[in-house]
This record gives sequence, structure tokens and C-alpha cells, in this order.
Amino acid sequence: MENFDVLVVGGGASGYFAAITAAQTRPDCRVLLVERGPQPLSKVRISGGGRCNVTHSCFEPRALSTRYPRGARALLSAFSRFQPSDTVQWFESRGVKLKTEPDGRMFPTTDRSESIIECLEREAVASGVQVRVRCGAEELRALSGGGWEVLLSGVRGGTVQANRILIATGGWRDGTLASMLKMLGHDIIAPVPSLFTFHINDGWVRELSGLAVAKAEVGIQGITLREKGPVLFTHWGLSGPAILRLSAWGARELQERDYHFPLRVRWCGEHSEQQVLEIFQEMRLQHPGKAVTNTPLFALPSRLWERLVASAGVFGEERWNRLTKQAALGLADKLLRTELQVTGKSMHKDEFVTCGGVSLRQVDFKTMESRVCPGLHFAGEVLDLDGITGGFNFQAAWTTGWLAGQAMARGTAA
Ligand SMILES: Cc1cc2nc3c(=O)[nH]c(=O)nc-3n(C[C@H](O)[C@H](O)[C@H](O)COP(=O)(O)OP(=O)(O)OC[C@H]3O[C@@H](n4cnc5c(N)ncnc54)[C@H](O)[C@@H]3O)c2cc1C
Repeated sequence: MENFDVLVVGGGASGYFAAITAAQTRPDCRVLLVERGPQPLSKVRISGGGRCNVTHSCFEPRALSTRYPRGARALLSAFSRFQPSDTVQWFESRGVKLKTEPDGRMFPTTDRSESIIECLEREAVASGVQVRVRCGAEELRALSGGGWEVLLSGVRGGTVQANRILIATGGWRDGTLASMLKMLGHDIIAPVPSLFTFHINDGWVRELSGLAVAKAEVGIQGITLREKGPVLFTHWGLSGPAILRLSAWGARELQERDYHFPLRVRWCGEHSEQQVLEIFQEMRLQHPGKAVTNTPLFALPSRLWERLVASAGVFGEERWNRLTKQAALGLADKLLRTELQVTGKSMHKDEFVTCGGVSLRQVDFKTMESRVCPGLHFAGEVLDLDGITGGFNFQAAWTTGWLAGQAMARGTAA
């Protein structure tokens, strides 16, 4: 029977980071990483539209933790030990330079996720981590004298023993693993998708596909959730950072509503109703003879403006000086409170995650070790934590992987 100090189950971002950290923390630590699929790091490859949004330039743990709809409290202490500046340093000291985009997202300067994959694979080999692909962990059994016995599938499968095991199997598709972890005493919070875009059937929304509004605010009635930021029109509805953030914060409530709910959109940034009406009054004085339809305000794309003007009942060549008080109020209302009915969701192609997973109350975030099964650790998306879009999900994977790797290496020291 093969014996290892550390067995990492799952060859994603968190599993690789943990395996490398364990091997580099204690060079005599025998580490095996098993990946069920044909290729490790497959999500890293497709992440960020193939560019891999590695982390975010938010370097203050408290501010950083607020970007996690689930797991913020537990991650706060974890970020005080390994946060985005450590991620940047980790990759840069291993030859992968990162750059920051204006919205804070950080990518490799090559704009290729391959740079991250090559770095992780190189580090794993150099530090002596054994990697087996097409090799899944099928059964776990705690040994009476401590340590674990694991049944592995695949050509190089069979039974192996390890002192410590890390479960880094990502989002929840595997009912068998959930049952195994439940049998070992863990609570699994029901998984539901996070980071999705909204389906809206109104023809006019779909006709505007491709347009973007930089400063919108979106909110859901009945749930006190609001998000500000860019909104994009797509051929099925609405997307963009503000929509994705709303989907993350509302992931559970929106699933309970079967993704059918009324969405309220404010198109005119921070302006209040009073300010909008004052701007209209200025237009009356400065441009009395111009057609309302042809003079978009609030930096809105002209086709959206035309649509809002028409939906407020202002047609054709209506001039600013002829705009009635009632029509002005109607247009202000559309700018401040357009109501749209959401009728479904689509996963966002650049990033999505599941919320739900192993209950955080049962995990010690100093070591990522289970509080109910000594020697069993967790990292990454398998846990009930997830971030909004912007590099926060990988950061959670690097942080929890690093903490688990350190703890497992130290915990198996002779
Ligand atoms: C399309 C897409 C793009 C994304 N882009 C970004 C981005 O740019 N930035 C960002 O921060 N986040 C992004 N994310 C989210 C990010 O990819 C995840 O949060 C992150 O990959 C989680 O890492 P993980 O190691 O926990 O899980 P995963 O990366 O899912 O890895 C888990 C691995 O475990 C393997 N496995 C499962 N069960 C077993 C088993 N029983 N035995 C052996 N192996 C097993 C799986 O095959 C998988 O390879 C994106 C997600 C998607 C889907």
C-alpha cells in the first residue's frame, strides 16, 4: 500500500496551491495530488475569458472580506495571513508578472491563463508533488490510529493511505462526495449557482443588445438588495458587473423565486428626481428648439435614451420647450425606476461559482482543518464561501489552499 503525508483531492486552483505549499513548507513531505478529470487546472484555463483574473488589487483584509456574500467573517482572519499582495508576490517571485486593470482586477501581463497554469505545474514538479490525472477519490475512511485510507479510481488507482487529506474538489456536482462528508459528520449547505445574468423577455431590451450603461443602479423589489455599476444589454437580457454582483448577493433568494422577479433599474447614476427635473429645466432654457429624442442625457447611449423617451409617451419631434410637466415627470420616472420582469438566468461565460458547500462553522480557518474530523482539511469552492466577480473567487482558493498546505505540512512533521 502506498503511503503519503498529504493527499490532495482535486487538481484545481486551491488543490495545486495547497499541494505546492505543503511540499515547499516541508521538503520531505510526501504529497500526492489526484485529479479526476483528464487535465488539471481546467477552470483556471477558461477563467476570465482565457486571461485568468488571478486576484483583485484590494489589499486591505477588512475591505476585501466585504466582497464575499458568503464566508466574509471566516475569510477576514484568513486574509490577515494570506491576501492579494501575497498572491501577487507569490506569482511574481516565480516569474509571472501581474497587472491591474482600472476596475482593480489583476491578470498576468501576458493576458494568458496558460502563464498561471505553467507556473503552478512547474512549481509542483520542482517541489516533488506527485500528480495523477484521471484519478478520482471515491471513498474515504478514517483509520483508528489516525490518518486516512482512500480508494482511488483510474489506471493508477487502488487504495492509498495518507496522514492528512485535503478536499479541494470545487463546486458541488458530486453527490457521492457530499454523502461521504455527511457520513463523516459534516453539514453541507445546499449548493446553488452564483454570478449569473438575467433573462428579460421584453423585445426592446434584446434589441439594444451590445449597449452598455456605465453608471446604472439595479435593485430587486422585496429583497433589500441594490448594486451600482456598469450594466450591459445582451441578446437575452441584462448582464455586466452590477447585475453579476446582484446575482451573487441574492443567489439564494433568487433561486427560491425560481429566477422570476421584478428588477428595478435606475439609468441616471446618482441623480435624484429633483436633480433630473432641474436638468430638464436647463435643457428647456439652453436648447429649447432641440428634439428631446435627439438629445440624450446622463451619458446614455442614444438608442436607450430614445426608448426611454418613447416609453414615457414623448414622441417624434417633441421639443424641450414643449415638454409638459407631466411628460417630464414620466421621463424622470423611467430614468429613475424602469421596471423589468426577469424570467430566468444564464451562467456568465467569464466566471461563475456555486454558493453552498461544507459549513464554515465546522472548519478552523487557521488550518482549514475540519472541526469534526481531525486530519481532514478543506479549501476552495467546496466550502460554503464565494465572492463577487473580479478575482475574489481565485483569491479565496489561493488563501484557503495556502493555509491548508502550511497546516498539513506542519501537522505531519516528524
Ligand atoms: C468559466 C469560469 C471562469 C471563471 N473565471 C474566474 C476568474 O477569472 N477569476 C476568479 O477569481 N474566479 C473565476 N472563476 C471561479 C474559479 O474558477 C473558482 O472559484 C475556482 O476555480 C475554485 O477553485 P477550486 O480549486 O476550489 O475548484 P476547481 O477549480 O473547480 O477544482 C476542483 C477540481 O477537483 C476535481 N475533482 C472533483 N471531484 C474529485 C474527486 N472525487 N477526485 C479527484 N478530483 C476531483 C475537479 O475535476 C476539478 O478539477 C471562474 C469560474 C468559471 C466556471
